[in-house]
Amino acid sequence: MHSKKYFIANWKMNGEPKDLGRIYKIEKFLKISKKKFNLNCIFCLPFTLLGLINKKKISVIKIGSQDISASSIDFGSFTGSVSAKMVQQLGCRYTIIGHSEIRNKGEKDKDINKKIGFASSKNLKAILCVGETLNEFKNKKSFKKVKSQIYSALKDNRKNLGSIVIAYEPIWSIGTGIIPKKVYLDNFFKKIKNFIRKDFKKNIPILYGGSVSSKNISSLKNIDCCDGFLIGGASLKAQNFIDIIKKYYI
Ligand code: PEP
Repeated sequence: MHSKKYFIANWKMNGEPKDLGRIYKIEKFLKISKKKFNLNCIFCLPFTLLGLINKKKISVIKIGSQDISASSIDFGSFTGSVSAKMVQQLGCRYTIIGHSEIRNKGEKDKDINKKIGFASSKNLKAILCVGETLNEFKNKKSFKKVKSQIYSALKDNRKNLGSIVIAYEPIWSIGTGIIPKKVYLDNFFKKIKNFIRKDFKKNIPILYGGSVSSKNISSLKNIDCCDGFLIGGASLKAQNFIDIIKKYYI
């Protein structure tokens, strides 16, 4: 069992150097709080901020990127790309891979499969994002879609399964404030866990992502088999993020 819960922030295309203070504030809260939180807290920042984090000011919080290049080399002629090696050199321990906002721009399952391999080769844990569209959800195709995304991403990465975390993010829930019903999520998480256990013989942590906030965390925390959360909008303000953690551990 994964008793350590994940609280992963995805800042997307947000944040200026001065905003890094928010992360130091959260670190301070995690350190001085009387309650001992058994968590993995990770901030996935835009590339522009990764090198600016003061490593001396964080020890509980780990840093991740929001993507890496799909090319196999560390350095080369790939304008606009940033390799796994480059983010590793900036202190990243994690990277998001396959976020729907990047899939939307044309990223393919085979790129995601390769990126997971490159991430692992640089000791970066991959936060693999999967999820269905509203149309697929309405047509009861959610599990089929997510199963195929997971299968494509993991099939050549069997030796890397220990460094993968999966975030189930229904696309229709991202940034909309709309959350799937708890019974649906309970059943869905169980099905994903069982499929991975059966096909990959591994208990990979599965997180929920999509409009998580301090207002809905009290009900989301009860999703069966859920190992944590990927949090976008609500991770941008330190107090919101702190409130999510506090309410989770009440
Ligand atoms: C995300 O895009 O990864 C995400 C979870 O966003 P939000 O929390 O804003 O819905």
